[in-house]
Amino acid sequence: MQSHRIQKVLVANRGEIALRIIRTCEEMGIRTVAVYSEADRTALHVRRASEAYEIGPPAPLESYLAMDKIIQVAKAAKCDAVHPGYGFLSESPDFARRVEKSGLLFIGPTARSIRALGDKLRARDIVSRAGVPVVPGSTEPIRDLSHARQIAAEFGYPVLLKAVGGGGGRGMRIVKEEKELGQALREATAETRSAFGDPRVYIEKYLRHPRHIEVQILGDSYDNVIHLGERECSIQRRFQKMIEESPSTFIDDVLRAEIGSAAVRAAKASRYRSAGTVEFLVDEDKKYYFLEVNTRIQVEHPVTEMRTGLDIVEEQLRIASGESIRWKQEEISPRGHSIECRIYAEDADEGFLPSVGKIAYLRPAQGNGIRIDSALEMGTEITSYYDALISKVVSWGIDRAQAISRMDRALREYLIAGIKTTIPFCLYVINHKAFRNGEYDTGFVQEFSKRNHQTTAADDGRLIAAISGVLVAGEAKEAPILTGGSQIKDGWSGWKTKRIEQEYH
Ligand code: ADP
Ligand code: ADP
Ligand code: MG
Repeated sequence: MQSHRIQKVLVANRGEIALRIIRTCEEMGIRTVAVYSEADRTALHVRRASEAYEIGPPAPLESYLAMDKIIQVAKAAKCDAVHPGYGFLSESPDFARRVEKSGLLFIGPTARSIRALGDKLRARDIVSRAGVPVVPGSTEPIRDLSHARQIAAEFGYPVLLKAVGGGGGRGMRIVKEEKELGQALREATAETRSAFGDPRVYIEKYLRHPRHIEVQILGDSYDNVIHLGERECSIQRRFQKMIEESPSTFIDDVLRAEIGSAAVRAAKASRYRSAGTVEFLVDEDKKYYFLEVNTRIQVEHPVTEMRTGLDIVEEQLRIASGESIRWKQEEISPRGHSIECRIYAEDADEGFLPSVGKIAYLRPAQGNGIRIDSALEMGTEITSYYDALISKVVSWGIDRAQAISRMDRALREYLIAGIKTTIPFCLYVINHKAFRNGEYDTGFVQEFSKRNHQTTAADDGRLIAAISGVLVAGEAKEAPILTGGSQIKDGWSGWKTKRIEQEYH
């Protein structure tokens, strides 16, 4: 493959990740082209790109998922490459193929590896042939209920029904006993069909209290693969990550090295190119099992950047332009500790229900060891068209204690008014004893949300909006009244109220 200096990149995404990609391009002297929907006319990524083109109505199918329009813009604007970010078209082998067929570089793996690894059954087959342990489960899609019964009995309940083409935590059903299997299979199949256009589901043994530990990898076009260390992502809700950290407190250096080399083997077996993530579950006995490969930049990649000093988007761009990886494995030496809190526009009090509205007031966190990736500004409209992830707060510290204190300080400093966000929830988690002791697993959020179910929360959103109304307009239209928080000591609603009191009283 010949080296080709990339001069202009189309960013086929929106929000914080579009902005994050634009920033690196700018640092590398690469021009950028944004595409956007009608809903994003005034968005920051649109204004920060060198050029921007409106491509359609807000619905993703007509804009951010409209392959033809995006490729057309890339060609017309004389781009030489397309970066898909995460979500949207990032894991579409068709898109990758069409981009490359149009004579553009796709900043990611080959269409072939995206297709192979996007199919969870094929991915499990590829990596297990490379000697990597996979979560016990079926090797083919479920044909019907009796087939499901037979497989489930073989692995033993509880089992997990999973979408072969799944992602984003969708299409999964836990089945505790045989009598639940029929309904769960119907539901999983229906959800899988509507979410991914592919009704195939398969069965995995449902591991109890596992930890989600993943490895960031980089591969180039010459079959070189290195890894950049692990991230622990066990703080999840609905099988989706909320807080990630590196290093994991759960594994020692021996297991760390083993999982790292298993990830490299998995990547080599699929001739992986670009940045990617090999996900594992680690059980209570510290046995590790391959889960899946995400063939794209990951939401939580900044955690790895903070520890290694590398810019993963820059590496993606260099690899796509035909360079080989610049480092040997032994030159990668992650340092200190890093944590990421995902800030979603959601109401944690209402089962993480999406919250929409205008950002009435915004005060970002700053200071030593803090990085915020977000595309928010005052006045930004949060709609229900797109993913609810609006911002990521990332901390770095020389050790875990410092990374936590900095995160704690930053989350208190960060004010977003006008919508509900998961800031109070993240504050609750990082101050929880189980998190502080590093003793948590993928069930953490569910377990603690259950306990807090009956709390009567102070209305954080309206409250901050009222306060910000005072701050912004400079007059007290409505006095910021503090209502009582939770009666439950370890409830996060109580936490929230305390936080606001500290801030304003
Ligand atoms: P990560 O492992 O990078 O944290 P997530 O599972 O949280 O990945 O997904 C990252 C983003 O991509 C989220 O915005 C999520 O909604 C979206 N996403 C993930 N998989 C899919 C998919 N198969 N189809 C559509 N969107 C997806
Ligand atoms: P997705 O493609 O939606 O990201 P994954 O296979 O990566 O799906 O699983 C997402 C999350 O679901 C994991 O991080 C874990 O919490 C949970 N999970 C997946 N498979 C299992 C399993 N076999 N046992 C227990 N939990 C699982
Ligand atoms: Mg996953």
